[in-house]
Amino acid sequence: TDVSRSFTLRQKLFDAAADTVKAVDSVTLHISRGETLGLVGESGCGKSTLARMTAGLLKPDSGTVHITPDSGGSGRIANASGVQMIFQDPFSSLNPRMRVGRSIGEALEVQGMPRAARRARVEHLLAVVGLAPEHYDRYPHEFSGGQRQRIAIARALAPQASLLVCDEPVSALDVSVQAQVLNLLADLRDSLGLSMLFISHDLSVVRHFCHRVAVMYLGRIIETAPRDMIYNAPLHPYTKALLASLPVPDPDARTTHTRLQGEPPSPVSPPSGCHFHPRCPHAMPHCRTHIPAETVLHGRHRVRCHLYA
Ligand code: SF4
Ligand code: MG
Repeated sequence: TDVSRSFTLRQKLFDAAADTVKAVDSVTLHISRGETLGLVGESGCGKSTLARMTAGLLKPDSGTVHITPDSGGSGRIANASGVQMIFQDPFSSLNPRMRVGRSIGEALEVQGMPRAARRARVEHLLAVVGLAPEHYDRYPHEFSGGQRQRIAIARALAPQASLLVCDEPVSALDVSVQAQVLNLLADLRDSLGLSMLFISHDLSVVRHFCHRVAVMYLGRIIETAPRDMIYNAPLHPYTKALLASLPVPDPDARTTHTRLQGEPPSPVSPPSGCHFHPRCPHAMPHCRTHIPAETVLHGRHRVRCHLYA
């Protein structure tokens, strides 16, 4: 009983092109079985790079992605197909010339599953994501954006993934369809015990969907906490500024957080010390020269800021 599985990433990426960009800088994250971790931050902060490394699509320069049974339990070690990725644009992730049933069953074909069993499993998966068995022989262009994302989800589930990495999975969809796809993902998570790394720039969606939230700024995770701690009592000045842009339903609860000023600095030459210091209303001289270490408050609230050291 109570066997859980955890995912830990320790990695550092140096993209040694003309300039060196630390897209992801010594990130350590942990996702428990059945947990959804939201990853938020401005575009270009390294979210997608981290996502691709987690899904095994990109090799970290240093550090490793672990998929391990938690607390010395006897759970099995997942193979590479245990982590699957869902992209923002479902059209580009599906081969336009392949019937969707074949696309969904591709991983099973690779595993050597016989044709009849494969067809049965794919038809089952189509039903699981709210499509019909007849859809098996159709092509991606015959579906709407929301349906294509359902197909991409079925494809990710086919090899019995235990971790889904979702990179902006609903941002390309109409607002009316977003909720349907999110509800499907939530149902699957709960019924299959899936873990998720859920990347989004939409803080309202993350609040609705995730158990825990990690905030990323220029390649570093600067704050991690359970959802309610992040939204009700954010600590890092950057997180406070991000949240200040959210509409506040109750005007009496309005916080005094300052909105974010200016564009994020270039990751090619990030500011020294705390990367956020040029935009931070609380910056101290120390912040320019020293990278903040992680402070853990209330057991589960992790923050990297000299204000809390
Ligand atoms: Fe601001 Fe300093 Fe904290 Fe960075 S470390 S967020 S500059 S107060
Ligand atoms: Mg991205």
